[in-house]
Amino acid sequence: MALKYTRPRGTQDVLPGESGKWLALEEILRKTIALYGYREIRLPTFESTEVFARGVGDTTDIVGKEMYTFTDKGGRSVTLRPEGTSGTVRAVLEAGLLGSAPMPIKAYYLQSCFRYEKAQKGRLREFHQLGIECFGTNAPESDAEVIEAGAHILRAAGVKKVRLEINSIGCKSCRPHYHDALRQYFSGHKAELCETCLDRLARNPMRILDCKCESCQKVAAGAPVMLDFLCDECRAHFEAVKGRLDDAGLAYIVNPTIVRGLDYYSNTVFEFIHEGVGTQGTVCGGGRYNGLVEQFGGAATPGVGFGMGIERLLLAAEDEGVDFCPDEAPVLYAANIGGAGKGEAARITALLRQHGLYAEYDVVGRGLKAQMKYADKLGAKYTCVLGDDEVAAGKAVLKRMADGTQFEAALDETLIIKLKEEL
Ligand code: ATP
Ligand code: MG
Repeated sequence: MALKYTRPRGTQDVLPGESGKWLALEEILRKTIALYGYREIRLPTFESTEVFARGVGDTTDIVGKEMYTFTDKGGRSVTLRPEGTSGTVRAVLEAGLLGSAPMPIKAYYLQSCFRYEKAQKGRLREFHQLGIECFGTNAPESDAEVIEAGAHILRAAGVKKVRLEINSIGCKSCRPHYHDALRQYFSGHKAELCETCLDRLARNPMRILDCKCESCQKVAAGAPVMLDFLCDECRAHFEAVKGRLDDAGLAYIVNPTIVRGLDYYSNTVFEFIHEGVGTQGTVCGGGRYNGLVEQFGGAATPGVGFGMGIERLLLAAEDEGVDFCPDEAPVLYAANIGGAGKGEAARITALLRQHGLYAEYDVVGRGLKAQMKYADKLGAKYTCVLGDDEVAAGKAVLKRMADGTQFEAALDETLIIKLKEEL
């Protein structure tokens, strides 16, 4: 039978059997990020289109072609958030936090993002991001702390085959000289550039370095590098960030072609790349964005942060065989025969649940054999069979499914204590 409805291309359903690993991973992320002082910020799913057009920058792929933009019934242009930094800056400014809260302000979000992209493994139209943003300090220590937090999260998630690549893309004063040098270089290679990059050549030549097109990448490999154009201040900043990473014992590679796909970055940029996932291996990307708050009309406030793709993190974890706690199994499956047995199974299951223990009994109307088969499927730690005899005696034989050992237990509060001990 043909399905009447299917999910939109580039979206995913997280089904009951799979959601356990999401929950487990989300808990790891939240706990780890709290160790660095980050507190959650919850943002609207859509914003005025301007927030992203200004924030992300109109020479980027995101604003140029990936946004889900529509006009609402009131005639306003709104956009489903393609990323989290712009919304965070908007919210922090709107709440007046920059003048009142102690600096730095550290906010994180765990939310879905929407980008109209060519859907493939690790590249979705609705995906999820853990993002962290730290406002109010330009000290290289804060760049390093953000990078360390990213490394810590990946470690905590059990992902080891990652490479950290860093670069500096300079500041407003030194980058224009680099842009000139790039324009000059790429102008001599126009024939090898793709259509999009020809446009980038005029508008934002650095973006060519980020192009995924093979022939552009070939040309880009010989392009001048930003590190040779850094002003003294930017160079000192980059050296200090590297120094702090060394202090923290974090290994990194300086990769001069990393420029990041968003316009708001300055100075430090970085990516964590997983070596087992393939082309969509960048699990986390981030950097410093000192000009962004000002661009939103706020007082000049430095910032640094990252975005980590949860689906890509799950792919990486899967590649390394990480088993995020599978769905919880019941501590007891109370099978039953007959009416009295069913009543007792219902009662004892309710009692255990009241005391925080996961228990199950038959709510389908299965026969005893089928109940036991189901208990096995659920991975129940213990089973018992409740019939007239057990109800009359007020006790039952519990079977530990792992090794088949059996013991007798009273069907009252003492069972709770016993099961808790056995867990
Ligand atoms: P890419 O170069 O892979 O397109 P990006 O530079 O557009 O990534 P960012 O905007 O920096 O990515 O987002 C941060 C992270 O979010 C990425 O490193 C990635 O893990 C994840 N991410 C970005 N776009 C997608 C997508 N379409 N599907 C799944 N994850 C994504
Ligand atoms: Mg992208």
